[in-house]
Amino acid sequence: MDKLIGELQTRFPDLRFTAGRQFYWSPETGEIFYKAEARGRHATWSLLHETGHALLEHRGYKADFELLRLEIDAWQRARQLAEALQIEIDEEHIQDCLDTYRDWLHKRSICPNCTTKSLQQGDFVHYRCFNCHTTWRVTASRFRRAYRRSQDVPQTLAI
Ligand SMILES: [Zn+2]
Ligand SMILES: [Zn+2]
Repeated sequence: MDKLIGELQTRFPDLRFTAGRQFYWSPETGEIFYKAEARGRHATWSLLHETGHALLEHRGYKADFELLRLEIDAWQRARQLAEALQIEIDEEHIQDCLDTYRDWLHKRSICPNCTTKSLQQGDFVHYRCFNCHTTWRVTASRFRRAYRRSQDVPQTLAI
């Protein structure tokens, strides 16, 4: 991890890397947090991905569907970084990650009453069902740190 951070730091002196409990980009503080004890390919890919968010200066998003765009773009930037650093990112891993977001977005958009897939409202906080007119609230969308693949609450996820 230190070696990779060193290389990234050399290329992009303005980036700030901070040891933390997980990998994430914080637009609020302008830091890339990383799990200091993490090792292996997944850790490398996560670091490149979060660096992608940082380099693209991702600030957040309003509508849920925008999240997927940001994720795709961050992975695209991560691919470029990987190529420059002669690291290989498994394409299947990228698709798995993107599927996690797709699932999350899907869960938020399903009517809790009749399970019709619905559209997010203009306030970005509510969804409304076409079919039964139920309205439900989702957490306001923004970058947040949370835990991927949590079964119970599809409200937050690490991006
Ligand atoms: Zn409904
Ligand atoms: Zn991300």
